Amino acid sequence: MQTLPPGSTIGILGGGQLGRMLSVAAAQLGYRCHVYAPDANGVAAEVSAEFTCADHDDSAALTHFAERCDVITFEFENVPVDPLHEIADKAPLHPPIAALDIAQNRIAEKMFARDHGGTTAPFAEVSDRPSLDRAIAEIGAPAILKTIRMGYDGKGQSRIRPGDDLDSHWQAVAGKPCVAEGFVTFSHEFSVILVRGQDGEIRFWDTPHNVHEDGILAVSSAPAPDAILAQQDAARDLAAKMAEKMDYVGVLTCEFFATKDGPVFNEMAPRVHNSGHWTIEGAVTSQFENHVRAICGLPLGDTGLAAKRVEMHNLIGAQADDWQALLGDGANHLHLYGKGASRPGRKMGHVTKIYF
Ligand code: AMP
Repeated sequence: MQTLPPGSTIGILGGGQLGRMLSVAAAQLGYRCHVYAPDANGVAAEVSAEFTCADHDDSAALTHFAERCDVITFEFENVPVDPLHEIADKAPLHPPIAALDIAQNRIAEKMFARDHGGTTAPFAEVSDRPSLDRAIAEIGAPAILKTIRMGYDGKGQSRIRPGDDLDSHWQAVAGKPCVAEGFVTFSHEFSVILVRGQDGEIRFWDTPHNVHEDGILAVSSAPAPDAILAQQDAARDLAAKMAEKMDYVGVLTCEFFATKDGPVFNEMAPRVHNSGHWTIEGAVTSQFENHVRAICGLPLGDTGLAAKRVEMHNLIGAQADDWQALLGDGANHLHLYGKGASRPGRKMGHVTKIYF
């Protein structure tokens, strides 16, 4: 274990709301955060001790940043991997680069899950227009076409219905390399959120039940219904095996569909995750605090539920404009990310409802 004492500097690659909440949790434990992000208006930077505004592939800026950090982590999984190898001797990086490599590629991610005994949706690689025809002939419709790289919150996706003209779907993904996935019939969606320490200890939070709207997470709640709990062990087992294989340190999230044949792995996020925001008030130790504990080599905190029931509702676009009304309900804990004027489809904040 490489224990970093409070007062040390944690470098965070990425400057969004996940970095903001990580930085707040780190500050509570006495650490300083240094945010590195290309966007000058990053919402993490304004709550952090230091900020470097530079592109993720700017090697000189990245080296300068790494020299001033005691440990480096990321809140955004699409950080280019190659420049990270160049700073490997400057400060430890947790989670490992291998986790980024896998999570940045939807096909590598599915193969990795399958290699560890997981089930995924049927899928086929689509590299050009003729291979889209072949993929749909093979897996059938309905299906979802997803860009292999850089997709999130339903972006870079196109839903194919039986009989659709495939040209329009190919245009929708701008002809980028894709994976065509068979549509999974599921009763629920859920995620396994775990933290793994430097000594290999793994702890799981309660499994949240996740409801998406238009491909974006809307609500996460815990405890989950029995239909999810019945599949929890198999899903946890897969997530733990994958974490161990990567020699992972920090919070790892794996998203699943609950189907009549058991859990179907959808994707993994090698970072703190939106479906774990409820842990700030709803668990004894939040995902943000335990991520900091893990990467700094501290003992992990208790991941148990701190209430009878917890619900996290994302505030998307103008929903955040209702902040005054939301504060009127005593069960609500309001989090606003400081993004300024609301924009449709943008995650502006969340509200966590705690029931004792
Ligand atoms: P993703 O970006 O892969 O997390 O997809 C966003 C959301 O779209 C998921 O949480 C599901 O609600 C839905 N979705 C994605 N892939 C599939 C699939 N193969 N079958 C059914 N629904 C899916």
